[in-house]
Amino acid sequence: MSFTNKKIIAGNWKMNGLKNDAWKLTNDLLSKFESPDEKLGFEMIICPPATLLSEVVSMVDGSPIKVGAQNCCDKLDGAYTGEISPVMVKDIGANFVILGHSERRSYYGETNELVAKKAEAALNQGLTPIICIGETLEQKENGSALAVIEDQFLNSIPENATIENIIIAYEPVWAIGTGKVATLQDIIDVHTKIREVAEKKFGSQNISILYGGSVKPNNAKDIFSLKDVDGVLVGGASLKADDFWAIAMASV
Ligand code: PEP
Repeated sequence: MSFTNKKIIAGNWKMNGLKNDAWKLTNDLLSKFESPDEKLGFEMIICPPATLLSEVVSMVDGSPIKVGAQNCCDKLDGAYTGEISPVMVKDIGANFVILGHSERRSYYGETNELVAKKAEAALNQGLTPIICIGETLEQKENGSALAVIEDQFLNSIPENATIENIIIAYEPVWAIGTGKVATLQDIIDVHTKIREVAEKKFGSQNISILYGGSVKPNNAKDIFSLKDVDGVLVGGASLKADDFWAIAMASV
């Protein structure tokens, strides 16, 4: 298990939000934590765009909300124009970084090997990588999903990873932003596979696995009912404080 035994509710804002939006969304979330009957049975992580990290880190200071970046470079500093180093992410006060999201793999050509290098660099700076893996629709339909998952898991995880210092997000590509959520059986099958591969690699199945792909308030309870699900990575619904909060509350 990673840094927590509680369910992890992570929000990926993707490339959305200007300063005012971040201010409102973060404040709306903070105000929910202030309600007297709020239950802290979960850990909440929000991952804004890099331009808003500093602002959001300052806003959540002293609150239960934690902050992550959506990407980082595999290098620490130097002539890499436009990149953001894990040292910078840590310096700004974030503690997590999403790596290998399918949008980065498909639009920016990120390979398992690059994801592993980024994760290694992130771990060396004390960041917790949330490493995303997931099959495409074609791979699901041709029956290779579990083999793809095994390959991505084994090759996206760096040498300095342990069962405790990384979080895996299983995100079927066909379920991201499409409104098509994986069936509960799909989730069970893939999470079980990930645990089997983790056992082979680390000698333990006890790794944190989030499910991601069209998680919404109306399906969150069913997803959290699966004992193999340690949390969720939420895209679209994390941009609405009420929805993100409802998802979090479905976990407790
Ligand atoms: C994501 O981007 O990681 C994601 C799961 O998006 P959505 O919840 O919108 O499907």
